[in-house]
Amino acid sequence: MKTLIDVIGNTAGHWVGDGFPVRSLFSYHGDTRAITPFLLFDYAGPFQFEPNAGPPRGVGQHPHRGFETVTIVYDGEVSHRDSGGGGGTIGAGDVQWMTAGAGVIHEEFHSAAYSRSGGPFRMVQLWVNLPARHKSAPPAYQAITADSIPTVQLDGASARIIAGQIAGTRGPARSFTPINLWDVRMAAGADAVLPLPRGHNTMIAVLSGHVTVAGRGIGAAEIARLSTEGEGAALHADDDAMLLVMTGEPIDEPVFGHGPFVMNTRAEIVQAIEDFNAGRFGGIAG
Ligand code: MN
Repeated sequence: MKTLIDVIGNTAGHWVGDGFPVRSLFSYHGDTRAITPFLLFDYAGPFQFEPNAGPPRGVGQHPHRGFETVTIVYDGEVSHRDSGGGGGTIGAGDVQWMTAGAGVIHEEFHSAAYSRSGGPFRMVQLWVNLPARHKSAPPAYQAITADSIPTVQLDGASARIIAGQIAGTRGPARSFTPINLWDVRMAAGADAVLPLPRGHNTMIAVLSGHVTVAGRGIGAAEIARLSTEGEGAALHADDDAMLLVMTGEPIDEPVFGHGPFVMNTRAEIVQAIEDFNAGRFGGIAG
């Protein structure tokens, strides 16, 4: 079995634009070897937005290069447009998987309908690194709707497979390196063994409820970091629990990040800033 390394969290929130009240539970500003192949985890909400008669809240045009942004929606709706031609609106149960790769400019706003109605809001944005050989991949956009995400019933838990697989049931997301991304639910009192693969860095984010892993209690907006070695982990749900389980093969390369750019070296960051300032990221059509 995997062992518990530590529990990470962050009680300090900040706003991304005016639409996303987030807590960054980890980021590439820390020890990237502890989180590879992931770079950043922003937990937005839970929050209640009032009806808004003005322009939708969110974050306007900004660039990314060198990784993928994965947005998982639990409550609310977000609309996206990017310079690669990708775009769309996703709601509860849906996932956006955007490959920034060589570089995109995008915007992320509440959908017009959700903005007008207001209501509960809860999302996760996860940044997934690209290995050096794929950092110049062409931009891409996967709109993954809830009906395309299979659910696997385990003893004591259910898991929606966004990426990766459980017992041969595969998730729809395409990733550049082997990862698993599972939306896991457990009922109060349940015990489950999650089939976490050997050799993958492994993190379990508790979005709501409370679970016990290896004798340690973990509550909402905390992440249990488990060992790369070993296979599987036993969880006990102390309350009804909503978990986001992330595993991935480590990318053993240096990480040099600056704001929305994550590359391997300082020189590549300087280049990204030059390219963005020179308009080489293109623009959003329309
Ligand atoms: Mn963005």
